[in-house]
Amino acid sequence: MLRYNSTRGDAPPLDFADTLLTGLAPDGGLYVPDEFPTLPEIAPDASYADAASAVMWPFVEGTLPRPAFDSIVAEAYATFDHDEVCPLVRLDDRRWLLELFHGPTIAFKDVALQLVGRLFDHFLIERDRRATILVATSGDTGSAAMQGCLGRDSLDCVVLFPEGRVSDVQRRQMTTLDAPNLHAVALAGTFDDCQDIVKAAFADRAFRDEVSLSAMNSINWGRVMAQVVYYVTARQALRRQGEEAPPVFSVPTGNFGNVLAGWVAQQMGLDVGGFLVASNTNDILTRWLETGRLSMEPVVPTLSPSMDIQVSSNLERLLHQLLGRDGDGTGELLREFRASGTVDAPRPEGWWSARLDDDDTLAVIAEHHAASGRLLDPHSAVGVGAVDRVDDLPDAPVVCLATAHAAKFPDAVEAATGVRPPLPSHLSDLLDLPERAGTVTADLDAVEAVVRAAVAG
Ligand SMILES: *Cc1c(COP(=O)(O)O)cnc(C)c1O
Repeated sequence: MLRYNSTRGDAPPLDFADTLLTGLAPDGGLYVPDEFPTLPEIAPDASYADAASAVMWPFVEGTLPRPAFDSIVAEAYATFDHDEVCPLVRLDDRRWLLELFHGPTIAFKDVALQLVGRLFDHFLIERDRRATILVATSGDTGSAAMQGCLGRDSLDCVVLFPEGRVSDVQRRQMTTLDAPNLHAVALAGTFDDCQDIVKAAFADRAFRDEVSLSAMNSINWGRVMAQVVYYVTARQALRRQGEEAPPVFSVPTGNFGNVLAGWVAQQMGLDVGGFLVASNTNDILTRWLETGRLSMEPVVPTLSPSMDIQVSSNLERLLHQLLGRDGDGTGELLREFRASGTVDAPRPEGWWSARLDDDDTLAVIAEHHAASGRLLDPHSAVGVGAVDRVDDLPDAPVVCLATAHAAKFPDAVEAATGVRPPLPSHLSDLLDLPERAGTVTADLDAVEAVVRAAVAG
C-alpha cells in the first residue's frame, strides 16, 4: 500500500484515506506518495471512468475495495454533460484543446471535486464521522466544492465569497443551490479577508475539533490525483488521431495544481514533450522559470481571476522532488520565501513559460473567434496564446488545457468578440432561480458563529 509523507518530512506517514481527510500535513507541508506508481495499460477504447479508475487505483489501493472505488469514479464522471468527459478537440494545425469544462460548474475544478466529495463521503461514513468543509473562494472553487458536497450526507459545506467581487454567474452558481448541507455566505471584505479568516478558523484548534473542520483546497492530494487522469487520456486521444510525438501541455496556471498533475503523470511514465506554464500579469511562475528566483509581487486583478495568485502552494511538491525529497531543505526554502518574499529555487528540465496581460488575452480570444468561430474563456486563452510566445518549443502537438467554459466569463468574451456566450443547457435557468445566501462581517468570531449555525442545521 502506498504511504504519503509530508514535503517537510516532519509528520507521520498516512495512507490515502487519512491523507485525503487531513489535507495539509501538521508540519505545514503537503502530502506526496512515497513513490510514483507506474501507469497501468489502458485499453484504447476504455471509457474515461474506466481509464480514471485504472490510473488512480495504485494511489488508493488498500483503503477501499476496487468495486466501491470503481462505482464512486463512475458516479463522479456521470455528472459531466459530454460522453468523453474531457474531450480533446483540434484547434488549428498545431494546437488541440483539452476541454475540462463539461462538469456541473463549467470549470475544470469539477474534474477533481466531483470525485473528492464522493471519496470524503465514503471514508467518513466508514468511520461513522461527519465533517465540515470550509472554503474561501474568489469564484470557481466555491461552487465546485458545493457541487462536490451536494447529496453527500456526511458533509456540511460552508463557502465564503467576497461580497460584490465575484461575477453574477459565479455567485448564482453558489446561491441558487438549494440543499440543507450547502451554505453560501457573502463576506463583507475581499478574497484575502475570506482566506485569512478560513486560515484562522483552521488554526483555532478548539473550533476545528468542535465542527470537524476539513479542507478540499487544491493542495489536497485527492485533487492532484484526479487531475492526472486527463493527461493520460489526452495522450491516448492524440494517438487515436495518428499523432505519435509526445505532446507539450500548455497549462493556464494559478495555484500550480493542474500542471503539477501533468508532471505526476510524467513521473508515472507518460511520454510528455514538456510543460508550458502560462501566466497572466501575476507572473511569479514565469519569472521563476526564466531566472531561477521566486519573488513575490502584489496580486493584480485580471480578466482571468482564478489565476490571480502570487504564492502557488502546489509548487512545494515539485520543489521537494527537485531538492531530492529533502524535507528539511524544502521547509527551509519555503520558510525563507514566506519570510522575505524572495528565494532562489531549483527549476525542472523541459519546461517553458509565457505571460499574457489582459490586452493580449482579449486579442487571443478575438483571433480564435475570427479564425474558427470558437469562443475561448480568458483562462483558456492565456494557455492558447502562450504557445505563440515561446520560440523553442519542440515540433510536436501542443495540448492547451481549456479550464473554463466561455459562458463563465461572458463579459470578457463579449468585450473581445461582440458575442455573449450562452450558458450550456443544464445551467440555462441559472439567471432565473431564486438566490439564498447568508452574510457575515470580516471577523473570525462572526464566521465561526455562522459555521456553527450551519452545522446545527
Ligand atoms: C483554478 C483555475 C485555474 C488555475 O489552476 P491551478 O490548478 O490553480 O493552477 C485556471 N483556470 C481556471 C478557470 C480555474 O478555475
